[in-house]
Amino acid sequence: MPVVDVKAGSVVPQRAAEGVDRSHRIEDELREQNERFSAAVENMSHGLCMFDADERMIICNRNYIELFRLDAKVMKPGVRFFDILQYSVDIGIASQTAEQLYAVRKPYIDGAKPSTYEETLSDGRVIVISHRPLASGGWVSIYEDVTVQRRAEEELKEQHRRFDAALANMSQGLLMYDADGKMIVRNGRFLELYNVTAADFPLGTTHRDALERLLELGIYTQIDVDSEVAKTEACRLAGKIHSAYRHLADGRTILVTRRPMSGSGWVATFDDVTERRRTEERMTHLAHHDTLTGLPNRSMFRERLDLALEDAAAAPLAIFSLDLDRFKAVNDTWGHPAGDWLLKSVAERLQRCLRNDTDIVARFGGDEFVIVQFNVRGPAEAERLAKRIVEVIAKPFRDKGRDMHVGVSQGIALFPGDGKDAGALLKNADMALYRAKAEGRNLYRFFEPGMDALVQARRALEVDLEAALPRREFDLHFQPIMTIASGEIIGAEALMRWHSPERGMVAPDEFIPVTEEIGLIVPLGEWALRKACATAANWPSGLRIAVNVSAVQLRNSGFARSVISALAFSGIPAGRLELEITETVLMDGSETVLKTLRQLRELGVRIALDDFGTGYSSLGYLQRFPVDKIKIDRSFIRDIGNRDSAAIVRAIIGLGTELGITVTAEGVETEAQLDMLRRHGCVEAQGYLIGVPSKAADIQRLLESGALNSRTG
Ligand code: C2E
Ligand code: MG
Ligand code: MG
Repeated sequence: MPVVDVKAGSVVPQRAAEGVDRSHRIEDELREQNERFSAAVENMSHGLCMFDADERMIICNRNYIELFRLDAKVMKPGVRFFDILQYSVDIGIASQTAEQLYAVRKPYIDGAKPSTYEETLSDGRVIVISHRPLASGGWVSIYEDVTVQRRAEEELKEQHRRFDAALANMSQGLLMYDADGKMIVRNGRFLELYNVTAADFPLGTTHRDALERLLELGIYTQIDVDSEVAKTEACRLAGKIHSAYRHLADGRTILVTRRPMSGSGWVATFDDVTERRRTEERMTHLAHHDTLTGLPNRSMFRERLDLALEDAAAAPLAIFSLDLDRFKAVNDTWGHPAGDWLLKSVAERLQRCLRNDTDIVARFGGDEFVIVQFNVRGPAEAERLAKRIVEVIAKPFRDKGRDMHVGVSQGIALFPGDGKDAGALLKNADMALYRAKAEGRNLYRFFEPGMDALVQARRALEVDLEAALPRREFDLHFQPIMTIASGEIIGAEALMRWHSPERGMVAPDEFIPVTEEIGLIVPLGEWALRKACATAANWPSGLRIAVNVSAVQLRNSGFARSVISALAFSGIPAGRLELEITETVLMDGSETVLKTLRQLRELGVRIALDDFGTGYSSLGYLQRFPVDKIKIDRSFIRDIGNRDSAAIVRAIIGLGTELGITVTAEGVETEAQLDMLRRHGCVEAQGYLIGVPSKAADIQRLLESGALNSRTG
């Protein structure tokens, strides 16, 4: 049996011993060594087979037999190498012929050089064979089944191919850094996004290098490299994902997201979100701003106010609730485009009124604006702003050669006195606004406790008024008008009265503005016209009837028709009807309104300008629309003893004479006033001195008796 000299790695034949003892000792030693060798061979994890110089097998282990599915009975020492090959071909394990297999091995055997080669078996397994020549001739082969390993390698290769394909086809740019912070992966999309070359960002570049390069190339403009690197490092350590928007010099926005990897490196992805950001910005702007004026809208205003009030120790502030006066008139008169232009101009003027950038003016819709004035030291400061607003809005708005006039009513609530939160403050400012509107135009009112009750009262008034017309609670009184020179009564003005079962007699100044706001004035005015004309039909012929007409009625398209039908029903000639309109109708008069008035005037209806002198000082509109009569407001007559008032009255009378317009003085209560008017050449007078507004029956008696004729005396 052959033995192996393990140290020398060579096989030596057994030799005859020189002495028995020595020979026994050596024999024992050799056997022991042999056993140790066999045990080692048997227990190694690889296959092993050893051949002598004659290519006969000396020893092989079980792994070898199993690897090649050989038969232990065949694999006895001494079997020829070629026979083993042939056997493996016979049992179908080899994928080539024995000759082919042998031809592959022969050069290694002859070359006596260590070498390694691979053989693929018919069942697909891959065996790596390490061939090592032995000093005595022959060789030893170690066989290793690397099938699993090879498969894993193949898979890894495939994975790499897929990874590369994915990287190349990603819509995002991608960089991967290893644990040392060096770039190990960089895809093409990254280069494309940043419009840079691979040479600018070679693998191995650090994050800091990359940022500095981007700055150098002018792609990033403002970025603090130190803080960016620190931030990324902190997120990496904390295992947190970190995203940031980067604004490139060319205007694009890139979303950079860094994700730590398990191996303690990290991946950065780059998304071009320019369009998305722009859309988002547009959406947020739209959601927070009024499209017409570009001012913050209600939701944004609330957000900002809520934020300011979150702080319990917030500084005092003032909320202004604004509503334009007569905006509806402008809109109806000039059309919506003009209305829109006006709202934009109002927004601009309001913005200019604010002291600083922190104060906010918002548009809540329609002609409603709201202002918050921060750090208000007291009501006086809020009042100053309110006054400034009244002033700037009162100035005419000139567009395409037309002057538009609006006013503004304001309600003011102060924090912390009038409310602790946005909801309460806005509600109270609205309440104060409501009050301002009810009291007149171009006013501001501070919120006061108890206003709530006033608002309720106003609502109740509206409800009662709505019911009053069908319940026939309205009535007309008539006040005579006299020619000063002759003392003759030439007619009477119809003045509306409301006999409310709950409220008693309500004066028109209290309810007419409300009916205008709720639109009731249209049917109510129509009723007054008919009733007035019908009453005048019973008067001595030639006596005129004057009827007050609200601007709201005039803007209604059916107005001319209702006048004509009132005349037709009553049967009085158009020349006996005088319509009293106010200056604002002519100031704002749209072509349609002026056309209606002109049309009625052509029919013979007279047009009188009521309350003259209280509105606007410009008289230019008198050229645009010639009127038949001017009624000097009673405030000038009351103060006629006063030099200024007297001068105004004289001027108006002079103007009337010059333009051929009848001038009537309203509110004449004393003989002295009448004398003065007579001396200045005023044509007509009306007032308690001549006659108080009276019931139809009373005025009829008066007119028929002509009792007042004596006054001329
Ligand atoms: P107006 O058209 O200027 O009418 C004159 C107002 O002065 C009336 O008040 C009248 O009673 C009052 N008045 C007359 N003489 C004197 C006087 O000597 N001294 C004083 N202190 N006052 C005098 P009234 O009836 O309360 O009407 C107030 C306003 O209501 C009217 O002012 C008019 O603008 C409006 N109005 C009245 N009736 C109607 C109507 O049918 N339609 C419309 N749209 N408005 C009306
Ligand atoms: Mg009048
Ligand atoms: Mg008047």
